[in-house]
Amino acid sequence: MNAELVFVGTELLLGEILNTNAQYLSQQLAQLGVDVYHQVVVGDNAERLRAVLQQALGRADVVIACGGLGPTDDDLTREVAAAVTGRPLQLDQGLVRDLEAWFAVRGRRMTENNRRQCMVPAGATVLPNDRGTAPGLIIPAEGGKAVVLLPGPPGELQPMFAHHVVPYLTARNGGRPLRLVTRTLRFVGIGESALADRLKDLLAGQSDPTLATYAKTGEVHLRLATRAAGQEEGLARIAPVEAEIRARLGRYLYGVDDEDLAAVVGRLLTERGLTVATAESCTGVLVAKRITDVAGSSAYFRMAFVTYAAEAKVQFLGVPEALIAAHGVVSEPVARAMAQGALGRAGVDVAVATTGVAGPGGGTPETPVGTVCFGLAARGAGALSPGVWAETVRLYGDREEVRERAAVHALALVRRYLLGLLP
Ligand code: AMP
Ligand code: MG
Repeated sequence: MNAELVFVGTELLLGEILNTNAQYLSQQLAQLGVDVYHQVVVGDNAERLRAVLQQALGRADVVIACGGLGPTDDDLTREVAAAVTGRPLQLDQGLVRDLEAWFAVRGRRMTENNRRQCMVPAGATVLPNDRGTAPGLIIPAEGGKAVVLLPGPPGELQPMFAHHVVPYLTARNGGRPLRLVTRTLRFVGIGESALADRLKDLLAGQSDPTLATYAKTGEVHLRLATRAAGQEEGLARIAPVEAEIRARLGRYLYGVDDEDLAAVVGRLLTERGLTVATAESCTGVLVAKRITDVAGSSAYFRMAFVTYAAEAKVQFLGVPEALIAAHGVVSEPVARAMAQGALGRAGVDVAVATTGVAGPGGGTPETPVGTVCFGLAARGAGALSPGVWAETVRLYGDREEVRERAAVHALALVRRYLLGLLP
């Protein structure tokens, strides 16, 4: 079964309001295993709305239209949908009584234009609106198809969809709803194209589960999806494909579903009983922020040094002035010294440092904007060896993106150390 979504409202076309109903309905339908191939936004115009509904009925089993059910002259959806399905509107006396009661309870008198909301296309099912005055409708159309009309305000649409449309769609689906079961594999340290290249055969030959890559700031997500009667059945189908992906790209795979990189790093630190500090320059406080965004991070996070000026790196981290003079402040020797300084002064087991050019100014031919040097110093514990590491990365994007990506890279560096992946 597939559905097409139609959003009615000139305000949507003008960008005055965000089409949040699109996201809500799309997510809900995906959960229900109903395919959506098209979404259309159309203004409050009868002719264009008619064309859109006709086209939608031509290619979808169920058309869900929202907005334009109100009492005013620009609310046309009910009339146009009735015309398109060839079902004349009739005044529903039950609805008139309900609506009169609705106004009476609120000490208001129903105005004449509200009677439009009591007009029901012949043979249509009325969906009660618990939050407002415009009822929804399910209007049968030719070929066993249907047009579902929902009110525009999300506070009315969502409960109506959940309480009345979901049961309808489930019944249409034979009462055995297939839902979409997904698993998101989260990678860091590998770009989207490199990841796609390593999974070329899987991506090309995919059918069930389907695979889709999404580039995020500093990371890549791979979504595996399948339709199944339940979570267990779906995950069982996903498992062998996931195992193959892990075998190829496990070192970059840091988490699944909504696991956050900083939370994963926190878990690894906790498991090993280690503490961490940051020595940040170009990232400001971003690495420390990401670490402390995680509840319970006080168990392993000690402190952040935000040493923006060269003198601060000298004063608070003990970076030798001569090192800065010789290599420049954005250099691997300085990143290494920053990490070492933080390790000693904070008395932690692991320290990570950032120094780079976030832009837009400050770039040179040798260190262009986006160049970030990372340092990591560690005391060593258990199987983890002590040492100091540094690496340089060229990050792209504007200032905000460079800084965000740098923070992700710093967290990923700590993760690599904790997993014994550093050379
Ligand atoms: P309507 O049913 O067309 O009178 O819409 C009433 C109100 O619902 C609009 O003024 C918006 O505030 C809201 N609304 C309508 N369509 C959407 C949509 N697609 N997404 C979010 N809000 C909407
Ligand atoms: Mg409207």
